Amino acid sequence: MATILSWHKPVLEELAGRRQSERLPHAMLLTVGSDPEATALAAALPHFMLCDNHNACGLCRACRLLEQSAHSDYYLCQPEGSSKVIKVDQVRALLNLGAKTANYAAGKVLILAPASALNRNAANALLKFLEEPPANTYLFLVSSRTSQLPATVMSRCQKRIVARPDPNQALEFLQNRGLTDQRAQTLLRLASNEPLLATEIEDSDAADALIGAVGIAENLLAGEATGRELGQAAQGLDAQLLLMVLIANAHQFAMAEASKNTLNTRLLQWHKALVELHGTYHRSPNINIPLALEQLCVNIR
Ligand SMILES: [Zn+2]
Repeated sequence: MATILSWHKPVLEELAGRRQSERLPHAMLLTVGSDPEATALAAALPHFMLCDNHNACGLCRACRLLEQSAHSDYYLCQPEGSSKVIKVDQVRALLNLGAKTANYAAGKVLILAPASALNRNAANALLKFLEEPPANTYLFLVSSRTSQLPATVMSRCQKRIVARPDPNQALEFLQNRGLTDQRAQTLLRLASNEPLLATEIEDSDAADALIGAVGIAENLLAGEATGRELGQAAQGLDAQLLLMVLIANAHQFAMAEASKNTLNTRLLQWHKALVELHGTYHRSPNINIPLALEQLCVNIR
């Protein structure tokens, strides 16, 4: 059985209930906090959508088939191998299943996660489905960076933001993985309360280097550090992890500013530029991230 994150459970139960009462739209965009969370939600979704008892019972025929990766009405599209993008051929395979008749009464469930990994051709291939969805087929796009999706795709999906874990749920998640209270708190601060991102940081053994880089980014926004310093701190770090941490950090600060009703243009520019750089990185994984960060800082000034 896929791991069900405690803070995903309410939305999974809600969607299963809507499926049962036939109030589920043909395409939904589910927004989560991070890419690893998108992967986790995508793994749990079919268990709730296809289960004969609508509750991931683990006992019915659908649940057992899912457990054996043998359910013929379910297709998950995600970046394959070392690729960071979902390619058009993968979307075509997904749409092929969508065009077939479902083998079981629960209908077909098609999932794209993280949906921000769709390349342009793949996103275009989806449009026809979104314009004329086949009967008895439910498409879910799961993403932490919905702003990266083409407007044509976004506008054709019903949107649902998945609630963030509260601090206790986040802490409990890390404690269950054997982390001490203090270590968990440090990682959660660094990951802006995203438990799965915190786990990735812990597993990368780069927590201290990431703490250093985030500290420099914060100083930079205060005008007390340079882009060159950030570029140097970024050397040798996993680019994907670094960008996720920097984005989460900028987002957290932006939220804090918003709650005070103040507008920090520089912070907003910084957040937007990081999100764009993350998108560029997904399309061109060979990009020199330390250098790109350094250049980005020049433009923010
Ligand atoms: Zn079941």
